[in-house]
Amino acid sequence: MPKSRVQESLLVTNCSQVLTLRGSAPRRGKALDGPDIIFDGAILIRNGLIAAIGPRRRIERLPESRRARKIDLAGRVVIPGFVDSHTHLIHPCSRATEYEQRISGATYEEIASAGGGILNSVRKLRAAPAAQLKSRGLAHLAQFAAHGTTTLEAKSGYGLDWPSERKILSLLRELNHDQPLEIVPTFLGAHVVPAEFRNRTGKTPEAYIDLICCEWLPRVAAENLAEFCDAFCDRGAFTVAQSRKVLTAAHACGLGLRLHAEQLARTGAARLAVQMHASSADHLEKLSASDIRALAKSNVTCTMLPGCCFHLGLAHYGPARQLIDAGAIVALATDFNPGTSPTLSMPMILSLACNQMRMTPAEAIAAATINPAYSLRRHDRIGSLEVGKFTDLAVFDVADYREIPYYFGVNHCSLTMKRGRIIYTH
Ligand SMILES: [Zn+2]
Repeated sequence: MPKSRVQESLLVTNCSQVLTLRGSAPRRGKALDGPDIIFDGAILIRNGLIAAIGPRRRIERLPESRRARKIDLAGRVVIPGFVDSHTHLIHPCSRATEYEQRISGATYEEIASAGGGILNSVRKLRAAPAAQLKSRGLAHLAQFAAHGTTTLEAKSGYGLDWPSERKILSLLRELNHDQPLEIVPTFLGAHVVPAEFRNRTGKTPEAYIDLICCEWLPRVAAENLAEFCDAFCDRGAFTVAQSRKVLTAAHACGLGLRLHAEQLARTGAARLAVQMHASSADHLEKLSASDIRALAKSNVTCTMLPGCCFHLGLAHYGPARQLIDAGAIVALATDFNPGTSPTLSMPMILSLACNQMRMTPAEAIAAATINPAYSLRRHDRIGSLEVGKFTDLAVFDVADYREIPYYFGVNHCSLTMKRGRIIYTH
């Protein structure tokens, strides 16, 4: 479906609350808690963009509103569409067997060192036909839309050889064209060391890093296959020095930078993200107090992934509260992936953020919309509901926005709109 088709004017009206999130972006500290609500609001849409937004009585009186096609929301709540800034959209199948092993006591790292984990997905992805991966991706994208997501970042990283990494990034491009959600592609060649580079003469993890830096990244840039480069900098994945090498090469190729940081152990990855001016540092469960201060002073978005902690059954969640109070830019994402966070529901992530990380519902919504839009360098177009921006919005069948995280595990999204077009309704 083309994303830029010219449309008639459309009036979305009778909204009990419209959370606009308008104003300067990104939001830090106390600004995260002010969603800027229009009560009894309406939105006039022209050519996919917001033409007017405000109290219903004023918007409905506009001459263009009188001619417009009308959608009466009967008192539902409207928020900007969710921007999910960390997903592993393309993967071959679930890892429910490992889920059961973990319930029986095996840790994530024990499963990974026995050949499970990411390498399990890599083996299956390499063998999977592109058409099969695509239809699975399409089904997931429809589910993202059904939960109110309108833009998502998606990483490669289950290929770990050039044909397979390219297969994933090419699929993301195709999917971007073939369905209405916007997908922001990220190259994650440095996800883990592939099996063929472990303990073999001449084929060391360092040789793999060189391959990424000298051969794959230039190809990713030349073929315009990704906007960002990510690296998994953690115990059992890549060191700070290796990750620095990858991010330096990616920056030289013109890619934006993201980093999986401080999830399993504190390695110094968050400091690396600050030094490299990365757009985002993600996970951050093991941050120290001085890491929090350094991140708070930087423009790195701290992307919290509480779905991971929940699915792994961990008692400790990331220090979102301390990061917000220190003034950091905080975002929330699903980390949708088959091993550690098999959810694509941002409403569920909001519930976890509120209950487990003590974020307020308003903070959680800002962290799921305008701040991740900033981390994906799209805050001038999406992430808030303001005149001139794309009409990307999600409608919830609740009386008050705080009920979105309150009703955990239940999807109350009843309509999703991308660039002024309804892409989901029920
Ligand atoms: Zn991830």
